[in-house]
Amino acid sequence: VPPVAETTTRTTCPYCGVGCGVIARVAADGAVSVAGDPDHPANFGRLCSKGSALADTLSLDDRLLDPKIAGATASWDEALDLVARRFAETIAEHGPDAVAIYGSGQFLTEDYYVANKLMKGFIGSGNIDTNSRLCMASSVAGHKRAFGSDTVPGTYRDLEEADLVVLVGSNLAWCHPVVFQRLVVEKERRPSLKVVTIDPRRTATTELADLHLAIAPGGDVALFNGLLLHLLQEGVIDSAFVADHTRGLTDTLAAASGGAGTLAVDTGLDPAEIAAFYALFAATEKVVTVYSQGVNQSVTGTDKVNAIINCHLLTGRIGRPGMGPFSITGQPNAMGGREVGGLANQLAAHMDIDSAADRDRVARFWNTARVTDRAGLKAVDLFTAVADGRVKAIWIAATNPVDSLPDADLVRRALETCPFVVISEVMAATDATPYADVLLPAAGWGEKDGTVTNSERRISRQRAFLPTPGRTMPDWWIFAEVGRRMGYDAAFSYASAGDVFREHAALSGFENEGSRDFDISGLADVDTAAFDNLAPVQWPVRRGDRSDGEGDDQRFFADGRFFTPDGRARFVPTPVLPLQIDASRPMVLNTGRVRDQWHTMTRTGKAARLTSHIAEPFAEIHPEDAARLGVTPAGLVRIASRHGAAVVRALVTDRQRRGSVFVPMHWTGQNSSSGRIDAVVAPAVDPVSGQPGLKATGVDVIPF
Ligand code: SF4
Repeated sequence: VPPVAETTTRTTCPYCGVGCGVIARVAADGAVSVAGDPDHPANFGRLCSKGSALADTLSLDDRLLDPKIAGATASWDEALDLVARRFAETIAEHGPDAVAIYGSGQFLTEDYYVANKLMKGFIGSGNIDTNSRLCMASSVAGHKRAFGSDTVPGTYRDLEEADLVVLVGSNLAWCHPVVFQRLVVEKERRPSLKVVTIDPRRTATTELADLHLAIAPGGDVALFNGLLLHLLQEGVIDSAFVADHTRGLTDTLAAASGGAGTLAVDTGLDPAEIAAFYALFAATEKVVTVYSQGVNQSVTGTDKVNAIINCHLLTGRIGRPGMGPFSITGQPNAMGGREVGGLANQLAAHMDIDSAADRDRVARFWNTARVTDRAGLKAVDLFTAVADGRVKAIWIAATNPVDSLPDADLVRRALETCPFVVISEVMAATDATPYADVLLPAAGWGEKDGTVTNSERRISRQRAFLPTPGRTMPDWWIFAEVGRRMGYDAAFSYASAGDVFREHAALSGFENEGSRDFDISGLADVDTAAFDNLAPVQWPVRRGDRSDGEGDDQRFFADGRFFTPDGRARFVPTPVLPLQIDASRPMVLNTGRVRDQWHTMTRTGKAARLTSHIAEPFAEIHPEDAARLGVTPAGLVRIASRHGAAVVRALVTDRQRRGSVFVPMHWTGQNSSSGRIDAVVAPAVDPVSGQPGLKATGVDVIPF
């Protein structure tokens, strides 16, 4: 029903982890327009191309509007009863680990919370993982090793207060454009602010850089180990901080020294470039090191994170204005997912599955005796378990692993053979939906309510400004209804997203007393009106703290106290390991994003102005490699690994490093017959974080 009067709603962009505030206006005729929210502290009114085009993505074409069973329209009761019954039967016959949920950093925190509670607290399995595993699991693991907690210490403002910003594995200009714009503005205002980019490719981001290190794939650990040794050698060490607030330096230096002789080879860099970077880092106290998917999406991703953090610990450059390591998340709510414990190896509210005290605390809070005592299967392993029959019922929500997981053809085969597949979706047809026994229509952006948390720990409201179309429902409601039908009525009787949020906030403060970093118990009593009006606010918000966003930009670790048992941060030894790829294939495939598309293009693909930037998938390849391989500019090339193949158009450019080829990850079987690049990517994972190495697969590049 179109609104009869114009409405204006403050909400949040559903794309990247910057978390920009958006003002959505619905005119009396139903036309929607969006603008940046000038009062939102992430973006101060700015939006990037994707955010600006949000109104173009709201048509109901191609939407899934009704529940379906075996392809036929069904009622909600029929669909939910069937899901609950088949899950319960599978658990009764094969145990709780025979079922799984695979969710998404696109979830709102409330969706995430209910799904996680259902699986870990009532089904009694750890088998809930999400596409956040592909996004920042290595940062989570690195933070926990160093800080004892998954804590991003700083804020976006630190980038503006720094004198040196080091961007590692981050094409910030395209992937986090509004944070990049903030950096551009500050550099224009204050040219003495230096920017270094560390990336195998020359990108739009490197145009801002004073120094670009076109590092070899996998060279980051060697580079930061070398930096650690250089800082020590030059006496750039905060001895008091190291003595009073850290442990483990001696072993870490020994591990770093092991690779000192092969630095230029391991990094693929000119020694003079390395020396210039080291000198700049050593000479500048206010340094923020920002890292993103080039660091995380690696089989040594966790070590890369710790190699970076080690340098900040040695210099005491953490917890102070303009200083610190800064993980910038890819997805809009990867951080919210971490808060609720939505990954297979987490519990809830930053508590640990392997801690008996934490399990007991969560069990008492949830009033359940079934809290799982072991981690579940992480994304890549989860779909291997579906393929080999260990997992017999899977529920996929708000993501499409048939396109986005590595070895994507294996994921497709896994779903083909899985006895029971449930998919919650906003879209009627994706590459995954043909394998669904039950399709559940989910409400999308602008139609549902809840919260998200951005990369600087800022919680913002996403608010509905459109009616829910057809019979779509919010994801939290769908999970809760299945929970009730499985017999857990009392635990899943939520009337609104606000109910879920209040419970989540209360759990974060339950028997906490500052022992955990994540605490928003100060928001546990927000009534309906206060939840509706909740201003963007950074956590922690402990009981008694202000909840109106004033006094924000708080930093963790300003007092040198970390969340390890002894309160000290840990240096973590990060030995240099050889790049493990299929050496029989001469090129290294790197995957990533383009400026105007998001994930598998289900939303951005609807906006004509976004497809005009880059209309089709491509393979960026250096001219010397192209000549050697017989690849012609704009000719088609076949990119093949032992897992699969894709055919895309060659983009011959010296922006690309020799020996590497870059292909964007957005195109799927829905929008390109052959550009589904994750079918090519090897399913190798980081042994600590379980995050796949999406940026280094050995491939052949063959003219097609
Ligand atoms: Fe949305 Fe990210 Fe662009 Fe902001 S920078 S408008 S959050 S896509």
